[in-house]
Amino acid sequence: MRKRKIVLAMLLVASMAVSAYAQGEKPSVKNEGTVSYEAQTIKSKPEIKDDFYTHMNYEFLTKTKIPEGENSYGNFDLLAKKTQDVISKSIKELNADYKNLKDGSIEKKIVDFYNMAVDFSKRDELGLKPIQANLDKIKNIKSVKGVSNYITANFNKGYGQLVDFIVDKDMKNTTKNAIYIMGSKVGIEKSYYSGKDNFSKKARKAYLNYTKKLLSILGYDKDLAAKRAKEIYNFEKKIVEASLEQGQQMNFDKTYNPVTFKQLGKLAGNFPMQKILKNNGVTDKDKVIVEQPKVLTTLNKLFVKKNVEVIKSLLEVDLLKKNINALSRDVMKAESEYNAVMDGVVYQDTDEESAYNLTDKVYTDGLSKLYVEKNFSPETKKKVLEMAEEVIANYKRRLGEVDWISNSTREKALKKLETMDLKIGYPDQWPDFSSTSVKTYAEGGNLVDAVESMNMRNTKETFDKLSKAPDKKTWSMPAHAVNAAYNPLSNDITFTAAILQAPFYSTDRSDVENLGGIGTVIGHEISHAFDITGAKFDENGNVKNWWTKEDLKKFKEKAKKAAEIYSALEVVKGHNVNGKISTGEIMADLGGMTVALDIAKQKNMDTKKLFESYAAVWRSVNTEEALISNLIDVHPPDKFRVNNIVNLTDEFYKVFNVKEGDGMYVKPEDRLKVW
Ligand SMILES: [Zn+2]
Repeated sequence: MRKRKIVLAMLLVASMAVSAYAQGEKPSVKNEGTVSYEAQTIKSKPEIKDDFYTHMNYEFLTKTKIPEGENSYGNFDLLAKKTQDVISKSIKELNADYKNLKDGSIEKKIVDFYNMAVDFSKRDELGLKPIQANLDKIKNIKSVKGVSNYITANFNKGYGQLVDFIVDKDMKNTTKNAIYIMGSKVGIEKSYYSGKDNFSKKARKAYLNYTKKLLSILGYDKDLAAKRAKEIYNFEKKIVEASLEQGQQMNFDKTYNPVTFKQLGKLAGNFPMQKILKNNGVTDKDKVIVEQPKVLTTLNKLFVKKNVEVIKSLLEVDLLKKNINALSRDVMKAESEYNAVMDGVVYQDTDEESAYNLTDKVYTDGLSKLYVEKNFSPETKKKVLEMAEEVIANYKRRLGEVDWISNSTREKALKKLETMDLKIGYPDQWPDFSSTSVKTYAEGGNLVDAVESMNMRNTKETFDKLSKAPDKKTWSMPAHAVNAAYNPLSNDITFTAAILQAPFYSTDRSDVENLGGIGTVIGHEISHAFDITGAKFDENGNVKNWWTKEDLKKFKEKAKKAAEIYSALEVVKGHNVNGKISTGEIMADLGGMTVALDIAKQKNMDTKKLFESYAAVWRSVNTEEALISNLIDVHPPDKFRVNNIVNLTDEFYKVFNVKEGDGMYVKPEDRLKVW
């Protein structure tokens, strides 16, 4: 299972990488699967001075096949698979001991859920039955009011959510929570609607066909399915066109728009935003921030009588899509056909893989609990904590010496480091799932009911946060996801239990290898506190300018240069990196590498090994489609995360004797230095 449109999923937590949930086995070369774009295009082994990344990873890049069904394969995928194997084993063990599982316990819920998910003969037999009652409700709608009522009543189950929302700290007063009404997740990536390149054309066609397929599964005849698919496409296109580009979403002057209920009602008009909030317990006393007012005004214009039938079809498709992995095989097949076009690989998950993926999606934190109980030692936590403290101490020293900022800016920056919180391994407290229910087939239940039960719990949990003070201990990602993050709203960094294993970190590896692995990752996350977005937040997580005018100007010039360096890099013919959306990640990678080198030099470590470890950590093979479709993600492709970071450090030239005229060479005055 792959994730798309990941960037919109979180408010602004800057995470490390997002290619979780993939397949793979040992760190060795894989022989079965898809031949990668790298294997097809790398003709011979380059020299370090011309292409460090490809030289170091030559064997891996040219020999490794992408495992069946995946569009890329690297260390994140390797660890995700390893983590999945551990958890799958735990589920099997719990199942073997079923009679001893306590009623209502998270373990029993996971096992019951998984067992229903893996029973495809039952799922096929049920067909669309689990969503039939809701489908009937949609069919009976006759007016705009009817559409609004349906959306209002089903919003907490995750249906008809044409706008995305989140409850998090108010970014101008982080002692309180606020609700953010964000953009919309409908349709496809904005640039694909107008893109003249082949990939955009392919994406448009595939998406249209996908909708058509879903409509025919829902019982539409061929002609009507084709007509409605086109209408839904155009309807969604209008919403997407009204949405902000990715790069503009962090422009808080534009997106921080607090509104009263009355104003909200006026903005959204026919779209029942206010009713939805009221229905979920939000009152006029709560702080509501509308990030993209234009999305709401567009919805208002679209929610008119002549569109009722289109909206009804859209809601049917939405209902099907939201449950696509909880229904029968033929429904899932429609999705994998669509993914095949976007990813460049044809594959359908095995029953076990599908069941695991769905359980992981629904009972995420439950699976994290199963994982860390067996796989995370207090020893690792202690060691990584020490390492993080060392990186922070070195960052402080660097900030103390950086010559392009004034002392007043420096003081504020240091304050952010001094108050930064560290989250390592897993949360102190697991979420409470006592309100969810999983009724087995034998008890008359089904998967869709169980998913809805979880969605209702999650929506309630989210809105309940409005009446509580922000909880500093909440985690923004599951402990079994291979990831790390910086959260500017709480000024903390997180490293999950799953990323704290080889090749990122291991007690079996040398200190310099660990420094090139998790050390640079720690430095990367800390750097997000001072990247183009993080720099807008103070030590308490409030959006507040703490820069002098002159320092900020210099900083923005550096950010511009980072974007320029990367925008010039071609990934696949005709497709360059989008430096503008990647600026924060480039700054974070550079900061991480710089501070890791500092530490290595102080401790007389072999910096060559540090570079080598860094190159190995980021190796990956990809399909051409994956390389193109990942350009909407804020993380640049792995090759450039290595080559175009190391060649900005002077140490690289010393260690590998790189000279003017070499492929990796950058003139000293052009080597961007931020922190
Ligand atoms: Zn990052």
